[in-house]
Amino acid sequence: MIPEELKKEIFRRYSKHGFKFNNWQELIKKTKIDETKTPTCYYCKKQLTPYCKENKWDCVSLDHKIPKYWKGKNSISNVVLCCAECNIIKGTMTSETYFKFLDALNDAKIKNLVFAEIFPGRKAKTMKRKNNQKLWELV
Ligand SMILES: [Zn+2]
Repeated sequence: MIPEELKKEIFRRYSKHGFKFNNWQELIKKTKIDETKTPTCYYCKKQLTPYCKENKWDCVSLDHKIPKYWKGKNSISNVVLCCAECNIIKGTMTSETYFKFLDALNDAKIKNLVFAEIFPGRKAKTMKRKNNQKLWELV
């Protein structure tokens, strides 16, 4: 079951990206969202919430698997539900690259370094951007 608040937020996210559905039933039919369970992040698999203010990193968002930056289409097949945290970290990476990146993050040390750069205040050391792009290099 998907909580009403979360349904509303998902509906809002799709609308915001230009996907117009007449109602929730049409949305789940076209997006193939499984209504029998709480949606999880396409990337990290954590459960998604509608409560952005209280728990903003778990909040549901919509991500383009192939980003518009790389000329990815704004189509149902190219968008997925994910958490706000993944969406921010993923940036202009393709989903394929981001999955590899997540594998690398299984190393807790690297994860802390990355998170500290992206989310100031989280513990870690230093990282720097390479050529000002969204590539990360440990220093
Ligand atoms: Zn995630």
